[in-house]
Amino acid sequence: MDAYEIAVIPGDGIGPEVVDAALPIVADAAENAGFSFETTRFDWGTERYLDRDEMMPDDGLDRLSGFDSIFLGAVGHPEVPDHVTLHGLLLPIRKGFDQYVCKRPNVLFEGIESPLRGYGAGDVDFVVYRENTEGEYASVGGREHRGFDHETAVQSALFTRRGTERIVRAAFEAAAEREGRLTSITKSNAQAHSMVFWDDVVEDVAAEFPSVEVERLLVDAAAMDLIRRPHEFDVLVASNLFGDILTDVGAQITGSMGLAPSGNVHPGESYPSMFEPVHGSAPDIVGEGVANPLATVLSWSMLFEELGEIGAADALWNAVTDQLADEDAPRTPDIGGTAGTGAVVADLRSRL
Ligand code: ATP
Ligand code: MG
Repeated sequence: MDAYEIAVIPGDGIGPEVVDAALPIVADAAENAGFSFETTRFDWGTERYLDRDEMMPDDGLDRLSGFDSIFLGAVGHPEVPDHVTLHGLLLPIRKGFDQYVCKRPNVLFEGIESPLRGYGAGDVDFVVYRENTEGEYASVGGREHRGFDHETAVQSALFTRRGTERIVRAAFEAAAEREGRLTSITKSNAQAHSMVFWDDVVEDVAAEFPSVEVERLLVDAAAMDLIRRPHEFDVLVASNLFGDILTDVGAQITGSMGLAPSGNVHPGESYPSMFEPVHGSAPDIVGEGVANPLATVLSWSMLFEELGEIGAADALWNAVTDQLADEDAPRTPDIGGTAGTGAVVADLRSRL
């Protein structure tokens, strides 16, 4: 029997609430599928920052490196600037473990109302593969600067063949396993170096996947088309910045932040991947016991899938699908109900 070691960083705000609520059902799913896992908790986040001026200890990455996977609740605090949480914890983990795929499924579940008129269950089901280590968020050898006169600012972007090829290949592999459609997002008309390079790489990799139909879209058109015809997308692949923007559009058209899971994935065995709900610490609802735990449960489903535990992954995903489709099931206020976090998980456990 396999026993996995999972590092858990519950984090801030509703992070610990949803993480703790979800753990029992996650353990059930593993037990039913015939494996077990142990969790080790790390109380890293903004409380630690306010106390000791650091989000995580200096040897944080070393301490995480031996784990099979990492689960993160949420980080953020109204009095701590976003760049501190980003640069103090999230980016070091993503970069340190070379988690070059940011994977965000967008599924419109039966029983959830989309803000898009006419869209219902099963109409939207696509996944965004966002490049997670370079692109517009990379530093290019100190070239970025504000002019001394404060009248100019320079920001560059870095696209390497290795970095572009591996995210594009991961997206093609996903498309080949799904509906066989891949949409590559660029701005090749305006960014004649980086994005034309991206197009060239897509063309090269496409040759390895003759069964996948490739569409190229400019990012502005993509933003429009995600609203106009979201049902036509299967896998989207985009640079760091464009992927960041489009995944937020995706989260909205599929109903609620409380339902959106994500993974920061390093394919292969060298490093642990990290899974987390897309939402933040939601300070406005902390302590009220109404945080939606479903994004967390779906993120655990993705974690199990990455470990190859497809049975447990499917069981969790299906339990959520089942619950949302049931009009009488408890749901949290963000998706139109009145139930608390605990009641939702208790109901979910009975559906496993
Ligand atoms: P952070 O700074 O940590 O990102 P935030 O203020 O940006 O926090 P988010 O967590 O991104 O807040 O949430 C945005 C909105 O969505 C909030 O109004 C919040 O209440 C709601 N929300 C987010 N996650 C959930 C959830 N799991 N259940 C219910 N509502 C949620
Ligand atoms: Mg936020």
